[in-house]
Amino acid sequence: MSESKRFSDGILEGDEKFRALVEHSVVGIYIIVDGKFIYINKRLSDMFGYERSQLIGKNNLYLAHEDEKDAVSKIIEKNLKEERENIEYSFKGVTKSGEIRYIHVFGSSFLYEGKRAVIGTLIDETERVLAKRELERLARYDTLTGLYNRYVFMEEFHRAIELAKYRKHRVALFLMDIDNFKRINDSLGHGEGDEVLKEVSRRIRRVIESEGGLFARIGGDEFAIIIENFDTIDEIGTIARKLKAVMKKTIKIDDYQLRITLSIGISLFPEHGSDIKHLQKAADIALYQTKKEGKNDFAFYAHDNGALIEKIALENDLYKAIERDEFELYLQPQISTKSSLAKGMEALVRWRHPQRGILFPGEFLELASETGLLYRLDIVVLEKVLKLLSRWEKRGYRLPIVSINISNALFHHSYFLKMMKRNRKIYGDLCKYVELELTESIIMQSTKDSASLVKELAMLGYSISIDDFGTGYSSLSHLKSLNVNKLKIDRTFVHDIATHKNGQVIVKAIIAMGKTLGLEIVAEGVETEEELKILQGFGCDCIQGFYYTKPVTSREIEEKWLVCEKREENLL
Ligand code: C2E
Ligand code: MG
Ligand code: MG
Repeated sequence: MSESKRFSDGILEGDEKFRALVEHSVVGIYIIVDGKFIYINKRLSDMFGYERSQLIGKNNLYLAHEDEKDAVSKIIEKNLKEERENIEYSFKGVTKSGEIRYIHVFGSSFLYEGKRAVIGTLIDETERVLAKRELERLARYDTLTGLYNRYVFMEEFHRAIELAKYRKHRVALFLMDIDNFKRINDSLGHGEGDEVLKEVSRRIRRVIESEGGLFARIGGDEFAIIIENFDTIDEIGTIARKLKAVMKKTIKIDDYQLRITLSIGISLFPEHGSDIKHLQKAADIALYQTKKEGKNDFAFYAHDNGALIEKIALENDLYKAIERDEFELYLQPQISTKSSLAKGMEALVRWRHPQRGILFPGEFLELASETGLLYRLDIVVLEKVLKLLSRWEKRGYRLPIVSINISNALFHHSYFLKMMKRNRKIYGDLCKYVELELTESIIMQSTKDSASLVKELAMLGYSISIDDFGTGYSSLSHLKSLNVNKLKIDRTFVHDIATHKNGQVIVKAIIAMGKTLGLEIVAEGVETEEELKILQGFGCDCIQGFYYTKPVTSREIEEKWLVCEKREENLL
């Protein structure tokens, strides 16, 4: 009888039930004495594809993968030294046919006939380990394109910056997106959009891998690239040009040959920021710049675009402002030169910005127009005016005409007329107190359609006035054919009347001609008594300007400029 058999028989002897349990256990069981297997149960030998006899007498590291033998032997030694009774560790094992198995070991050591022995169990955790890896992989990779996801990008970017700080080298961050991707998605469908994303990813990936950079998809059609350790900015420019070049070939999707382009913004560490937040913001601004300048290109962040940063911030706020109801109505009365009463008033919008305080239209209208929000802003103002009028009516105020500035965007919006009809239904005759100010440019562009739109609005009971008259080139006779009620002389002309004789001639002529066409004339921007007197002399009907008052809140209007008929009745 071999010594190992004698030992194992000795250890397992006595209790037949115990022996059977060990023999048929579903976990692998072994006994090691002096670092050699002296017993292996069937499950363990099956696990590794050996005959039991092939393992008996082998070193306890025999089943461990080459790479792990050292580590495992260190763990065992350490436990022996510390004379621990229990030992637990994991290792990568190799089967007889060379397959990798992930094994977890629980061992327990004891002295047997003066020798150090270990009895242990082995559990094959390969399935669980692989499943866990797959989960980790899914958490790190974008499933559509197989690229790293945002999470990995952030982690890697962080690592790259820390390393660059330590080694004093540079890092470039590219943020990019596919130009007009939304249009591709909307027109061809999402499946096709996905194909575009995959093909674009493949092309960029080839370039970036050969440059040794990291490429990740961080959102819908947004991608990021990290390039580390380069010498000149020109190298980065060259990579960007390569990206542009690989997009030259069209992408075939179904029967279409799509010409896809990218916009790229680049920021550099340490030049443009020392942390992730600033570098991302800088690359974002550069991307914005690229888009603004016509897309299909790249731009480095430029230091001097503080104004742009401000604009982006304001743009973000503007989107929220409508939902948060941050716009307020201010009103500026139009005072009759005959009665000195407020015949009408103009609604002028103000934005109560949570941080910046009250902002004037000059500070946000252009942005609202660029971002396509202007028509919504006008609708907000219109609704506020209608609500104000109905409140005034309920309280018994004699209603003034309230004029509203209608932007090009709202005027040409397909929904405009429908909305004005609906308001007519909801608010009834109150709409007769609403005046729509159209600028000369709207009137000038007026095609047949817009002329008939103006007519329809007039038929619904809304008044129409021409704002900033004199700055465009519309002729008075042209206005006659439209249903215009009022003409507002622009304040630049008003400003001229006190200083230039010429100015007086022009204003006098406008007033005279306007009156012959039956239009009411309002002079804007009257600031002095002298201007008022001259305009009065020319027969101007109403004055709007700082001479009387700046635009004020509705409450101030109620207190100073409205006549309450209920109160008058009470007095009688
Ligand atoms: P606008 O329609 O010509 O309005 C008159 C502007 O002149 C107002 O500027 C008013 O405050 C200012 N003003 C009035 N009297 C005087 C004066 O005596 N001297 C001077 N220097 N200025 C005077 P505000 O409120 O800053 O509005 C500027 C422009 O913004 C408006 O010009 C109008 O075109 C536009 N706007 C204002 N509110 C809205 C709105 O709700 N929707 C749209 N689409 N545009 C609006
Ligand atoms: Mg106006
Ligand atoms: Mg005006």
